[in-house]
Amino acid sequence: MSSPFKKIKVLHVASEMHPLAKKGGLGDVVGSLPKAQRELGIDSRVLLPLYPGVMDRINGEAKKLPRKLYLPLEWRVYPARLWHTDVQGVPVYLLDIEDISFSADVYPNQLDMNSVRPFFLLSLAAMEFKKATNWNPHIFHIHDWPTSMVAASLKWHMYYSTLSDQYDTVLTIHNLAHQGIIQETNLIQWGIPKEAFNIEGLEYYGMTNFLKGGIIASDMITTVSPRYSWEIQTREYGMGLDGVLKKYNSKLKGILNGIDYSYWNPQTDPLVPAHYDVNDIAPKRECKKFLLSRCGWKDDGSPILIYIGRLAEQKGLDILLPSIEAILGHGCKLIVLGEGSEIYERALLDMCAQFPDSLFVKIGYDEELSHLMYAGGDMLLMPSYFEPCGLSQLIAMRYGTAPICRATGGLADTVIDADSASDGTGFLFSSYDTEAFLRAIGRALASWNSPNLWNRIILNCLKVDFSWSKSSREYANLYLELLGVPEGENKKLLR
Ligand code: ADP
Repeated sequence: MSSPFKKIKVLHVASEMHPLAKKGGLGDVVGSLPKAQRELGIDSRVLLPLYPGVMDRINGEAKKLPRKLYLPLEWRVYPARLWHTDVQGVPVYLLDIEDISFSADVYPNQLDMNSVRPFFLLSLAAMEFKKATNWNPHIFHIHDWPTSMVAASLKWHMYYSTLSDQYDTVLTIHNLAHQGIIQETNLIQWGIPKEAFNIEGLEYYGMTNFLKGGIIASDMITTVSPRYSWEIQTREYGMGLDGVLKKYNSKLKGILNGIDYSYWNPQTDPLVPAHYDVNDIAPKRECKKFLLSRCGWKDDGSPILIYIGRLAEQKGLDILLPSIEAILGHGCKLIVLGEGSEIYERALLDMCAQFPDSLFVKIGYDEELSHLMYAGGDMLLMPSYFEPCGLSQLIAMRYGTAPICRATGGLADTVIDADSASDGTGFLFSSYDTEAFLRAIGRALASWNSPNLWNRIILNCLKVDFSWSKSSREYANLYLELLGVPEGENKKLLR
């Protein structure tokens, strides 16, 4: 039977895509969702900036398209090239603009018209895309503030708004904390008229808010977990946009992120020393030994707790740091991998010097060590203050490592508390404080001390399915809904 999704053409316009450029979960999603969509029959492609270093990462294997794009901005035209490459079967187009350089760090430290200009041009390139590729998508799937201006331009731009009938837009909010706010409100030289600067537009407390523009202008909005989709409509988690999100909640839907099960696979992962699955978990012990030796330790039977993630307030560092001494006091070993705020980095390194036998800290981004930690760890700590979806807990479960998480956002949607259900996969706590966190760790350690129970929890983790198979279908159905199918044959789908 032919796939109902076969005619749909989607262009993901994004600032990150694993493994070409990744800063966090957005990069993982753009690196795996288009692939899953293609398996459903959707013609899903990606438009990404050509960041410094990307060409090396693909060993120069990209073809320059013969036709140039011309991007109009500030009373001039920026010529640009698209480089076409293939990432695991997904066509990817890398945008190379004359006189404009994208930062190797992906995001600028400070947002202003200068630093945001490259992302604005990326948005314009989406609308010029078909001229260089002869391929015209039905839907622009945009991600967070850097590409929100695709939808905003189709609504307000002096020229591009004339194309609004041709495209539908889906905006995925990966993290509401980053909104793309700049001081300037006069974007006339970018083609955005001053009428767009009001409460029903880009204006935000006398500044310009790109994400707000995207929320208002997009045809559909998704967030990366169902729970986060309603949390962001509350004052506590709405980051100043709860009112706007509440107003537009009829086009807001939560769709849980998946992970790429062929990449994150304890049976085949080339970055771990031993392979295992739900039928034979014994080799996980080898991974544990290897991880311990990497930290300079021996396997003395104590549980290994891991933390992998950005060292940011959002991730709950304010309750993790004051808990470390107590965690180590329980006889656990703790391994931390992350980078971020200097204050947290320094505090962790100081503690590491104090407890070298039980605390290991690696500051930096280290893909290989992360795999080793997921495979060799026993429990993952994720005490996030808020968490749109969270991928680390999904990866941990895939590797039979039980997550201990605060019940917020996607963490609450994906982890089942093992004390309240026989199919439990981890341990949840609600209150954002050290006592509640330590109580959850205490419950996890009590289960750890009962080998049969612990074994069941690990097997439960290995059995749950957070691959893209379910969620990519939800996106596909959303696209169909957007394109007006099956109610009537949509003219756009015929092109
Ligand atoms: P974020 O809020 O950063 O998007 P997620 O949990 O959604 O958090 O995704 C984090 C992803 O980045 C996971 O794949 C995790 O393994 C990876 N990651 C985070 N920090 C590091 C690091 N320092 N080294 C290696 N991988 C990391």
